[in-house]
Amino acid sequence: MLDEKSCGAIVYLNRFSERLYLLLHYEAGYWDFVKGNVEVNETEKETVVRELREETGITDACFVNAFREKIAYYYRRHGKTVHKEVIFYLMKTNTETVTISFEHVGSIWLNYVQAIKKLTFKNAKLLLEQAHVFLNKK
Ligand code: ATP
Repeated sequence: MLDEKSCGAIVYLNRFSERLYLLLHYEAGYWDFVKGNVEVNETEKETVVRELREETGITDACFVNAFREKIAYYYRRHGKTVHKEVIFYLMKTNTETVTISFEHVGSIWLNYVQAIKKLTFKNAKLLLEQAHVFLNKK
């Protein structure tokens, strides 16, 4: 079995009285958060900052302290099972304009209820719930 690790971020901004979350439309068809593979000699947070810049053009986002959550899943690649872990951080931005990379086919800012509906994977919905509750308590 192969092991793979990626890091990502739940990115949000405040617009008027609403908190909006950033979702990306992956080429394979699903909607998910910003994420990508950890490169050699990179810290988790360095990966997240780089992936966010590459995938969206956003460079002003700040980490929200004390949020770090892991999700894990299995998928098949070239006939082999891959066990994948993705570590998620929470980031706040003031940049609404997104410039997506070739890896994606779209992006959208959605409020919590809309984002929960739009996210494809159950584990991503649970993660968003955790982030939302975390931010509400702050
Ligand atoms: P990365 O964005 O980390 O570079 P990738 O695009 O190479 O990753 P994934 O997004 O992990 O790969 O997708 C690989 C497979 O896993 C796809 O078949 C996808 O449908 C599935 N997958 C992606 N995210 C999840 C998830 N949160 N839960 C379950 N399966 C997922």
